[in-house]
Amino acid sequence: MIKVFEDFDIMLVGHYQSVLDSNGIDTFMKNQFGTSGAGELPFVEVVPQLWVLNEADVERARALIQELHENADAETMQAWDCPACGIPQEAAFTHCWKCSASRPSLSSGD
Ligand SMILES: [Zn+2]
Repeated sequence: MIKVFEDFDIMLVGHYQSVLDSNGIDTFMKNQFGTSGAGELPFVEVVPQLWVLNEADVERARALIQELHENADAETMQAWDCPACGIPQEAAFTHCWKCSASRPSLSSGD
């Protein structure tokens, strides 16, 4: 078995597993049950991990995961409101079409 992905987000790992499954790749999820009832284990031991059973499938699995990552990035593109004039903007715009103010960075939420 070869580990192809791990993330604390069990939903994400599960999603990737179902995608690989639907592409005919046999997978196994380790630490599927996360921290429940495992309080004494080091946290690193309970990261949900996605493993591919057949080495021959690993490259395809990684390519699929890469593709999913890119799609996930695209999905974070959202419509936004101009911080300067408040006009609603399309997701694809990087500047306000009305006053040319820059789109606020998505990562500056804190
Ligand atoms: Zn504006």
